[in-house]
Amino acid sequence: MAPKRDYYEVLNVSRNAGEDEIKKAYRKLAIKYHPDKNPDNNEAEEKFKEATEAYEVLRDSEKRSRYDQFGHAGLEGMMGAGGFDFGNFEDIVGDIFGDFGDIFGVGGSSRRQGGPKRGRSLQYDLQISLEDVMLGKALTIDVPRLETCQTCHGTGAEVGSKPETCPECFGRGQVTRTQGFFSMSRTCPRCQGNGRVIPNPCNECSGQGLVRKVRQIKVHIPKGIDTGAKIQMRSEGEAGVNGGPPGDLFVMIRVAPHEFFVRENNDLVTRAKISFPQAALGTTIEIPTIDGTTKLTVPSGTQFGARLRIPNKGVPYYNHYGSGDLIVEIQVETPTNLTEPEKELLEAFGRARDEGEDEERSGFFDKLFHRHDDHDES
Ligand SMILES: [Zn+2]
Ligand SMILES: [Zn+2]
Repeated sequence: MAPKRDYYEVLNVSRNAGEDEIKKAYRKLAIKYHPDKNPDNNEAEEKFKEATEAYEVLRDSEKRSRYDQFGHAGLEGMMGAGGFDFGNFEDIVGDIFGDFGDIFGVGGSSRRQGGPKRGRSLQYDLQISLEDVMLGKALTIDVPRLETCQTCHGTGAEVGSKPETCPECFGRGQVTRTQGFFSMSRTCPRCQGNGRVIPNPCNECSGQGLVRKVRQIKVHIPKGIDTGAKIQMRSEGEAGVNGGPPGDLFVMIRVAPHEFFVRENNDLVTRAKISFPQAALGTTIEIPTIDGTTKLTVPSGTQFGARLRIPNKGVPYYNHYGSGDLIVEIQVETPTNLTEPEKELLEAFGRARDEGEDEERSGFFDKLFHRHDDHDES
C-alpha cells in the first residue's frame, strides 16, 4: 500500500483553509472523480475515495486538530478497522451533493438503493363465529412476522460496528460497465443492490436487521362484520429496513357456518317445526336466538314454508345503530304413527272439511274440464 498522502495536499487547500473552502475543494474533486462519471475507472475510484477520506477528516474539527498535531497516526482508532470508515460515506456524499443531487444524471433513488424500505404488509385469515358477529368481540391473534432486531436495532451489524457503504458500488446498489458505446447497469454483486455491506454481522439476526417473532396482537371484531371484510391494522405488518416504516396487517374475516342460522344480509333465517293443528289454529312458540330465546306468534292458517319476521333480532348493522330481523321459516309436520282415536278424529275432520269443500272442489274440476274442452274445440 502506498503511503497516505497529506489530506490538505489531496484536497489542494492550504493548512489554514476554512470550512467552506474545504467543502468547495472536495466537491470539485468529487464531481470529477465520482464513479458515476468514471465507470470502471480504478484510478478515479481511488482518487474519489482518497478525497472523501480527506474531507471526512478535515470537515470534523476534532479529527482535523488531531490530524494537524499527529498526522495520520493521530487518527488511528478513530477511523475504523480498515482505516477509512465508509459508514459515514453516504452522509458525506449526501451532505455535499444534496443540493445538486442530479448532477450525474442519476436520480436520488437509484443512487440510494440501500435507503429506507417499507416493511411488507401481512394478511391474517381469521375465522369467527356468528356469535362474534352478533355480539362483537375482542380477541388476540398470534402473528408471525419480521421485527426489527433489538440487538443491532435493525442495522444488521454486530454491536460496536456499523454497516458500511458498499465499496464496490459506492452505495448505489448498481454497477455500470461500459463497452464501446454501450454502458450497462446491473445490480451490484457485492451488496446485492443494497448499497451497504456488513463486515461484522449481528449474531442475533445474521446481519438481516430483522428477526422472526410471533407477536400477539389484539383485534377488535366489530358487530355486524361479514365474510370478506378486512380489518386494517396500521403498522402491525413487518418491520421496515433502513428506517423505513412498517407494513400493515390485514385481518381477513370469514364467518363460520352456523348450525341453526343462515345470514341473509342483516336478517337471520332459522326454521321452526309446528304441528298441523298449531298451523291451523295458530299458536305461540319459543324460538332460539344467538343469546337466548324469543317468542313468536304463529297466526292461524299458517302455511308450510311461511316466513315470519321477528323485528330487530337479526344481525346488527356494521356501521349504524339497529339490526335486521329474525326470519322464521315454518315447517308444518304431518303427523305419523296415529293412534286409533287420533285416526278417527282426523277422519271425522276430513269428512267435515269434504262436505264444506265439495262444492268448491267440483267447481274446480268443472273449470278444469271446461277449459280442457275449450282447448279441444279450438
Ligand atoms: Zn441484529
Ligand atoms: Zn454494492
